[in-house]
Amino acid sequence: MIFEWQQKQWQQVRQQVQERRLPHALLLTGQAGLGKREFAMQLARSLLCKHPQANGEACGVCEACLLLQVVHTADETNNKATAVTHVGTHPDCLWLEPEEADKAIKVDDIRELCASLSLTSQFGGYRVAIINMADSMNINASNSLLKTLEEPGANSLLLLVSSRPHRLPVTVRSRCQRIAFHVPDEQAAIAWLSQQKVNNSALVLSLAHGSPLLAQQLAQADALQPRQQLVEALLGVAQNQSLVSHAEALAKQPVFELLGWLHDWLVDVLRLQSSQKAEVMNKDYAAELQQLAQQLPVQRVYGLLDEVLSLRRMQTVSLNAQLLWEDLLISWQLLIKKA
Ligand SMILES: [Zn+2]
Repeated sequence: MIFEWQQKQWQQVRQQVQERRLPHALLLTGQAGLGKREFAMQLARSLLCKHPQANGEACGVCEACLLLQVVHTADETNNKATAVTHVGTHPDCLWLEPEEADKAIKVDDIRELCASLSLTSQFGGYRVAIINMADSMNINASNSLLKTLEEPGANSLLLLVSSRPHRLPVTVRSRCQRIAFHVPDEQAAIAWLSQQKVNNSALVLSLAHGSPLLAQQLAQADALQPRQQLVEALLGVAQNQSLVSHAEALAKQPVFELLGWLHDWLVDVLRLQSSQKAEVMNKDYAAELQQLAQQLPVQRVYGLLDEVLSLRRMQTVSLNAQLLWEDLLISWQLLIKKA
């Protein structure tokens, strides 16, 4: 299924397919939670399907569709020598993503993918390769992709999916046609979320920066628990609770996710400092944020935000998580004390 907010992009690609001018490489960009990965899969299905429907979507029942049916999950790549897998059991559809979140895509996997993509299609149609989280390619991996981007095989399509395309080398980006996905308007997103029976949709949508699929995920039980832990630490430390025990609790949570929540928290404080009527992402803590905004020195909030941004720019955090959170909470505590 193509999501409502992807219709324009779908029509654009459909037209290119019909006019036989689909490029050999597409780069699907847009923030996380907009369904780029699903879109790539739908496009692959549509190109490989023997009897696509009028709107271009795959029929779901032909031989090709049945072979593509096994939905790929990250777990399937575990315990395998290679990260390159087939989608379902279809020989002409390949899938590659980092073996673990925050890990790089390696050059050997790209070589294998490119070699496989250059083979003749077993079904006499397209050969499609999807690289999910393509910005996780290390520099050697990106370089080895260039040859395929420059001299693609006939009827091959490479789909790169990335929510951080600025991390891709310009040599890779410039050889792909970009399809950008955007956040739907708030009313449409909330309507979609209520169709999915999501409660508290305004809050989760705001925490998801407007991405409906991410909002849906955040609405699931315990999905917001790491954020809750962080907020409790920030408010607790502001009230002189033990910094070390909060750091210990935070060290057990996923680092990059927490840094994301901390980033948004600080941005909310800064928004309220520039205007008391500003909309915040953390709607459920609007009153607490309002108070912090009045209390904290703006320049120092920026300073802490910079610290968080540079941590987030790292591919992986090799630091001891406990120490990392003690440092960040000390910075936060200093902010409060200087107020
Ligand atoms: Zn089909």
